[in-house]
Amino acid sequence: MKVGFIGLGIMGRPMAGHLIDAGHELYLYDIQPVPDELTGKGGTACKSGKEVAEKADIIITMVPDTPHVEAALFGENGVAQGLSKGKTVVDMSSIAPIETKRFASEINKLGCDYLDAPVSGGDVGAKAASLTIMVGGPEAAFEKVKPLFEKMGKNITLVGGNGDGQTTKVANQIIVALTIEAVAEALLFAAKAGADPARVRQALMGGFASSRILEVHGERMIKRNFNPGFRIELHQKDLNLALAGAKSLNLSLPNTASTQQLFNACAAQGGAQWDHSGLLRILEVMGNFEIGQTAPGGDD
Ligand code: NAD
Repeated sequence: MKVGFIGLGIMGRPMAGHLIDAGHELYLYDIQPVPDELTGKGGTACKSGKEVAEKADIIITMVPDTPHVEAALFGENGVAQGLSKGKTVVDMSSIAPIETKRFASEINKLGCDYLDAPVSGGDVGAKAASLTIMVGGPEAAFEKVKPLFEKMGKNITLVGGNGDGQTTKVANQIIVALTIEAVAEALLFAAKAGADPARVRQALMGGFASSRILEVHGERMIKRNFNPGFRIELHQKDLNLALAGAKSLNLSLPNTASTQQLFNACAAQGGAQWDHSGLLRILEVMGNFEIGQTAPGGDD
């Protein structure tokens, strides 16, 4: 297929790479230079989203936030200016469900389909082509794009109409944030009590406390590797969507709110760019103890 890919950062670059490897014709654009790795494999660098939309039949966006998707689709020389009837726009970024419905209806007016298809699984899942993909939009468009999704991910679900994919992603981000917070509290507790946090993590991996977060983010915490991965500022964006949604739905999400405050505290410490497992660091400040330090009363 002729596929456009806009946004070639931490996630977009490996995802576009898998589509090239699968034999698709890729038309690439980013406001930064297109990575050589992708043109070296046979992808074509374009000078605008408009050019991408003129050349490709399915146009994927993978940019940071709602305003970036709006700029990529409807800005000057954006995708909308290059679209013609029958093409499909697929936004795989994680953005606001309400704005998504507006973007979909603007794209539909041009005779094109729109899918919101955000992902979970992080940079690890993007590289391994094992992302979870949650989709909103018409079934026929979903079936058309599914072979591409299958090259980037494993668990691929059409949840409902436009916006429902993004709503699912917000729900996902609530679970991920609160689980990171729980894992950080547990490992810090264990370490300050004098147990080896690496052994504690290993011991917990088979039981009810087991999770992908304990596995991946727990390991990052123990190795103190806070290079992103998924940046705290992006998770703040996602929890903002959850909390703004909660307000308009008359819903209370108390632990989402408190976890957002911890991310805010990380950002105040200069940590907006840390991986979200860096939430541990603010708990360490509060507990006056770092994982890896000798525990008080410890003998090694
Ligand atoms: P990133 O910042 O690494 O990459 C985004 C890319 O988009 C950058 O290369 C940037 O130059 C480009 N860009 C920004 N505005 C643009 C525009 N108007 N036109 C063209 N290109 C533009 O971000 P990322 O980590 O790859 O995340 C992308 C999206 O995926 C976000 O919505 C994020 O929430 C979501 N996501 C990320 C992860 C993760 O682990 N990193 C996991 C799941 C979902």
